Amino acid sequence: MGEVPVRVLTGTSFLSMETARRRGYHGADTTKTPQTERNVYDMAMMNSVKRAGFRALYGYLDKDPDTNIPKLMDWVDRFAGDGPNSFPDQRAAFRRVIENPDNNWYRLIRSMWTDIDGGVRRTFFENFMLNGNLIGWPIQEQARERYGCNIPWAILLDPTSACNLHCTGCWAAEYGNKLNLSFDEIDSIITQGKQLGVYIYIYTGGEPLVRKDDLIALCNKHSDCEFLCFTNATLIDEDFADQMLRVKNFVPAISVEGFEAATDGRRGTGVFQKVRRAMEILKARQLPFGTSCCYTSANLDSISSEEFVDQLVEWGAKFAWYFHYMPVGNDAAPELMPSPEQREQMYARIRAYRNSKPLFLIDFQNDGEYVGGCIAGGRRYLHINANGDVDPCVFIHYSDSNIRQKSLLDCLRSPLFMAYHDGQPFNENHLKPCPMLENPDKLREMVARTNAASTDLQSPESAEHLCAKCDGYAAAWHPAAQRLWACGHSREGCADACAPRRQAG
Ligand code: SF4
Repeated sequence: MGEVPVRVLTGTSFLSMETARRRGYHGADTTKTPQTERNVYDMAMMNSVKRAGFRALYGYLDKDPDTNIPKLMDWVDRFAGDGPNSFPDQRAAFRRVIENPDNNWYRLIRSMWTDIDGGVRRTFFENFMLNGNLIGWPIQEQARERYGCNIPWAILLDPTSACNLHCTGCWAAEYGNKLNLSFDEIDSIITQGKQLGVYIYIYTGGEPLVRKDDLIALCNKHSDCEFLCFTNATLIDEDFADQMLRVKNFVPAISVEGFEAATDGRRGTGVFQKVRRAMEILKARQLPFGTSCCYTSANLDSISSEEFVDQLVEWGAKFAWYFHYMPVGNDAAPELMPSPEQREQMYARIRAYRNSKPLFLIDFQNDGEYVGGCIAGGRRYLHINANGDVDPCVFIHYSDSNIRQKSLLDCLRSPLFMAYHDGQPFNENHLKPCPMLENPDKLREMVARTNAASTDLQSPESAEHLCAKCDGYAAAWHPAAQRLWACGHSREGCADACAPRRQAG
């Protein structure tokens, strides 16, 4: 079939069907049947409408957010009606937020207008909310159905194994700068990802900013995507911040270990002051940033303290991502895994802060309930290391695919990724989401069945060695996880789970 002589309004210009297809307004299948042409056309039209509607709505909000957000909610209520699928609880919760200027979520939303550059804010809303979700999600769904495999919402990738620091316990210092994904390889991953509806890319490493020129060029080239970056922040300077302000679609998640002594103790003398300087540079240019914190049995108390969280807000962070220490690698220190009591403390604290602090907090190991359990194996994300190995998760270093040898879609259809697809969720209790940490037999079994190999290039670790470190942890966490889950998910469950504690206490 030749090119359909129809032109599609994209919000900025009219595109031919062929151009619309090339720019990713459809799933990855390029088979041209009349039906798929029709579907491509329908989706392109739908996306044009979404884009135009979103832009009109954003322009209205942007003019006067204090006045127009409540007005917008009035319209939503009127349109939603009273039906069972009209999300009455969610709408009521959102209304409570926007009607109370002291509410922490209201303060966070409002700070997007007071603290963030207008162009960066607009780009974030367009790339993250419109492209990453409203437009990207239906394309992902269509591809999930068509190919019968997981399709991610975000892709994590390591541009390099190199790092400019030598933090205690970090593998990057050992790898050195031997491994890199080339500009063209990263570009190809993003291009393939967009065909599948993926508009969110997250750099890990190594220290990604060792490749800062390439990362800015990729932001430029894929200006419809949002790029996040885990970084030690020591390479953020005025010039780089100016580049960020120009491209508008690059958001750092800065690694911090706590206050000065804790950060310098692990990362080296003077690093804390460099991190603070980077935050000041970003704040001065009204650029958004967040933090990434790993909690261990040794630092959990301080890194999750109210004092520290208040400090993050004062520094200008808009989000804080907390990661449970994972005993990954032959040199890992399993004693750094939090005790059940500590993990429960973390669970309670993060939930309390979410109701009181103007900061978007996520605790990845305790928040599985919001995303249906484990998100790895391409269900919502995957990880590509600097050697091109495609890992199911940034913490699970086993793979049967390399992006240099297979397309992204073929990696998603590999035996290991299909084992994730078929096995998820790994536990009905999403406080025990992980096939490694809380269900180690599942990872043992998947790795053995699919013949996946270790992708740890410095010191390959067997799945048995890794999972054996988690057996005791999983058994110890089980009672608390069951009680918290029962408590959080039904009145009766809470009564049953809490009764013995009440009697005891
Ligand atoms: S594999 Fe484990 S750590 Fe990775 S996303 Fe799944 S639950 Fe989280």
